[in-house]
Amino acid sequence: MKFDFLCPTFIRFGNGVLETTGQEACKIGLGRKVLLVTGKSSSKKSGSLKRVEELLEKEGLQVVLYDQVEQNPSVETVEAGAGVARQAGCDLIVALGGGSPLDAAKGIAVLAAQGGGLDDYFGTDRASQALPVIAIPTTAGTGSEVTRYAVITDWKSRQKRTVASFLICPRIAIVDPLLTVTMPKQITANTGMDALSHAVEGYLSLKSQPITDLLAIESIRLVANYLPRAVGQPEDLEAREKVMYASLLAGLVINQTRTGIIHGLGYELTLNYQIPHGLANALLMPQVMEFNRISCPEKMVQIARALGENVAGLSAREAGRRTAFAVKELSIDLGMPENAAEAGLRIEDIKGFAQNFVQTKRSFGAAPRYPDIKEVEEIYLKSFRGEI
Ligand code: NAP
Ligand code: ZN
Repeated sequence: MKFDFLCPTFIRFGNGVLETTGQEACKIGLGRKVLLVTGKSSSKKSGSLKRVEELLEKEGLQVVLYDQVEQNPSVETVEAGAGVARQAGCDLIVALGGGSPLDAAKGIAVLAAQGGGLDDYFGTDRASQALPVIAIPTTAGTGSEVTRYAVITDWKSRQKRTVASFLICPRIAIVDPLLTVTMPKQITANTGMDALSHAVEGYLSLKSQPITDLLAIESIRLVANYLPRAVGQPEDLEAREKVMYASLLAGLVINQTRTGIIHGLGYELTLNYQIPHGLANALLMPQVMEFNRISCPEKMVQIARALGENVAGLSAREAGRRTAFAVKELSIDLGMPENAAEAGLRIEDIKGFAQNFVQTKRSFGAAPRYPDIKEVEEIYLKSFRGEI
């Protein structure tokens, strides 16, 4: 057995851990000046932004607010945030919000420490310095609080690009499931299905290993059991806790394994129709699982089991086929669109998306099966029609 496992993040998990934010920040260094990075509205509406500011200030930390992060944060937003951090002399970043503010904060952490623009750092291990980041997720899906990735939208090249560096793994993750209670049904469903896509892609990745396999299967099991409850009853605290935990586990998984082609294909839907990241993945997951099935039949059986399918007496082939249907049924139960057409995909765009996907040098080298252009078109087309 041979593997690597990277997790330099100190994780505080549990209802109410938000209250320790000030004390935790002081462990990184007393008297710091904090850039508090957040989205445009949800953390204000929920009151979490005000609370985090209070907690930091109570410990004597100065707070500078950067609340301009949009969904799928752009290069410009991250570079502007870094300008604010540098001008104010911030030496610690606290990120509060969904994956978008968390990723923006990680990009800012590099630029504020090292200078330059994001173009200098897109790719793997191109940064050599970064300010410390404390990540406080308010969605349960991306796992960004423990990953070495910052996914940033580059509108000039129309791509979602990634800064990948262990230096941007948050120093501390404050993972408080109570923060997710304010998520409406749709955002809960979308982000929860993102976590599922991380667990599935991580489990099937060629870079998977014994620890990530354990975490991924548990994450899949938890999403299948608790995401419908969290969507159906937003104040079900047990369900919120389990889905947040599932998202954290899946983040630990992709931090080792990377994601796969569900993500690569989904980016086109997000860039072109503003389909939220988790929904884009949910729309493509059944078709990609079906495509992957022949490369990893035994693992597909384990996924089927974790999803709660009765696979007794079935061949690996039959059980594997069940998994794609189980994922589709789950997303329909969650109230998601039945096919990508309903979500906005236009059939005349498919050829172009397939071309972009194949041409863009994305790092999906760890995917268990890599599609050629015809196969990519077929996956999009099946998703368009809701077929598997
Ligand atoms: P998001 O874009 O951060 O937020 C989606 C929406 O949810 C926003 O309108 C946000 O409002 C709202 N929201 C957030 N928390 C809320 C809460 N507690 N209550 C009510 N509304 C809330 O969504 P996300 O799915 O978490 O993040 C997606 C981004 O993460 C994508 O760019 C994706 O590529 C990236 N991602 C990164 C990784 C990684 O490892 N780094 C992994 C997967 C995905 P506000 O805008 O007002 O805050
Ligand atoms: Zn994702």
